Amino acid sequence: MLSKIEFDLLKSSQYCDKEPCECYNKTGAGNIKINSRSKGQVYCNRCGNRWVLTKGTMFFDLRTPMDKVIKVLLCLSRGMGLNNTCRQEKVTAGSALDWIVKAAEHSNEFTRYMQQEMHLEQVQIDEFWSFVLKKRKILQMKRESCLK
Ligand SMILES: [Zn+2]
Repeated sequence: MLSKIEFDLLKSSQYCDKEPCECYNKTGAGNIKINSRSKGQVYCNRCGNRWVLTKGTMFFDLRTPMDKVIKVLLCLSRGMGLNNTCRQEKVTAGSALDWIVKAAEHSNEFTRYMQQEMHLEQVQIDEFWSFVLKKRKILQMKRESCLK
């Protein structure tokens, strides 16, 4: 479940993606209303289109709170080892590796998120992606061994 801050943050950048809708692709048009806070769902009050706030993001279908995922990714990007990070944040290595892969799959969006919401400097963002790139092969191997 999303925290109130996460819910409101995600809601503020939503737009209706149903093509014939008069609010199609418009953010801040006042048409996005809450359908279910606990399920993270909103709807467009012009056309009735419903969706979950995390649709199309790296946070879609995660059971872990966004802030925890971000904290883990930050620890890893700052050079803390995988085992230490997992122990400190009480997450499994498999989960942490899944989040890295998801961040990489949504790299543009996650970069924007790091700039706007995490207020990271470009050099910190570069360090994060450099970490992901360097570890990609090792992570893939560890991930495969975690899944066996
Ligand atoms: Zn709509």
